[in-house]
Amino acid sequence: MLKDEDRIFTNLYGMNDRSLRGAQARGHWDGTADILQKGRDWIIQEMKDSGLRGRGGAGFPTGLKWSFMPKESDGRPSYLVVNADESEPATCKDREIMRHDPHTLVEGCLIASFAMGAHAAYIYIRGEFIREREALQAAIDEAYDAGLIGRNAAGSGWNFDLYLSHGAGAYICGEETALLESLEGKKGMPRMKPPFPAGAGLYGCPTTVNNVESIAVVPTILRRGADWFASFGRPNNSGTKLFALTGHVNTPCVFEDEMSLPVRELIEKHGGGVRGGWDNLKAIIPGGASCPVLSKEALEGAIMDFDWMRDNHSSLGTGCMIVMDNDTDVIKAVWRLSKFFKHESCGQCTPCREGTGWMMRVMDRLVTGDAEVEEIDMLLDVTKQVEGHTICALGDAAAWPIQGLIRHFRDEIEERIKHKRTGRGASVLAAQ
Ligand code: NAD
Ligand code: SF4
Repeated sequence: MLKDEDRIFTNLYGMNDRSLRGAQARGHWDGTADILQKGRDWIIQEMKDSGLRGRGGAGFPTGLKWSFMPKESDGRPSYLVVNADESEPATCKDREIMRHDPHTLVEGCLIASFAMGAHAAYIYIRGEFIREREALQAAIDEAYDAGLIGRNAAGSGWNFDLYLSHGAGAYICGEETALLESLEGKKGMPRMKPPFPAGAGLYGCPTTVNNVESIAVVPTILRRGADWFASFGRPNNSGTKLFALTGHVNTPCVFEDEMSLPVRELIEKHGGGVRGGWDNLKAIIPGGASCPVLSKEALEGAIMDFDWMRDNHSSLGTGCMIVMDNDTDVIKAVWRLSKFFKHESCGQCTPCREGTGWMMRVMDRLVTGDAEVEEIDMLLDVTKQVEGHTICALGDAAAWPIQGLIRHFRDEIEERIKHKRTGRGASVLAAQ
């Protein structure tokens, strides 16, 4: 387990002073100008060497993403945009950073923007995060007042402005290009990629979109060194990370720990174990709703990182795990996710707009057992036709939990169909 001195987020639970004074007492904003003076190339190389992979869910290497930004200006400004539209079901880690440790993010914005030649950054925060928005705005105001951002930020000679922009409650605005559309004042609908934002992003200008945690860890990585960060976890999955445990654990929580630790250890040490004990575990979804479900049997030797999850037909996602015990109707749980994705589809592309509806309607019947066994394979086929055939990752996200369900719980689905176990599922459907 991570030692206290290796934690980046030293105020995750709000036990300390989150103001600038408190943040500085915990080591933030220490020598920021010295870091900037080492130059853009040094910062980007350190980020590459640290092995940090994007903490929003996709795990794209952060330093590599930064290196896509143009070195020389062609007359267009460059921007950093921070994705604080944390809306993935079960995911609540960035919220804790913004509530209790907002200066980590403000300082990270300055350093990351400098490294990418951006004089302005936007933080796009989820509309429902009202208290978090207040805490973040207070930190931004304090940083301006103290000369840490603004003209000659932190005495570095770099001019830097930071703006906070509020979302309005649409899940799809967490998709990076829909977020950019929304920031521009348009309806939040994803754009085709390529071009990626580094080529044409906000207002058509070079832009990098990063998750809150990915930016908030930057100052500590650069102060303590890439090697220090890379010493945690295993190659290609390095560093410390914020994880969360929700559902049927004894103590749901958000915590920071090393990457690549055993799933069981995380659940037992941080979450107080599965309700009713490990043997009562039925399934998990590793990182928010956009990941395939894994059964308990599939968790033999499971470790919590990008590569293990990918190699075992799931994904790490946000690392915010949903734990389900044996009392869970796992078919109904995945049906609920299908309903969510259908509701949140922006409707722009046919496979997602029509496919999410198809998938949900078949899931309706699987929950009540009122389907034919052949429909299981038909549903799987529909998920394959949606996956990889849409403008943005929402289509994949809608397909994956169902694919995991069929992979691990086909027997249970067939059993329900055969016995027409309609009671529980039917009443829930009627209630929604
Ligand atoms: P993605 O793999 O398409 O992209 C990840 C990042 O890498 C993007 O910034 C993208 O621009 C960049 N990128 C990828 N390929 C590139 C290339 N060839 N050149 C340049 N840049 C490139 O994934 P995504 O759509 O950004 O994210 C999907 C993930 O988001 C899902 O897996 C899910 O886990 C997660 N998610 C998180 C939340 C949340 O609240 N945190 C909400 C919904 C989804
Ligand atoms: Fe919209 Fe879905 Fe297409 Fe994404 S995949 S652009 S959410 S319709």
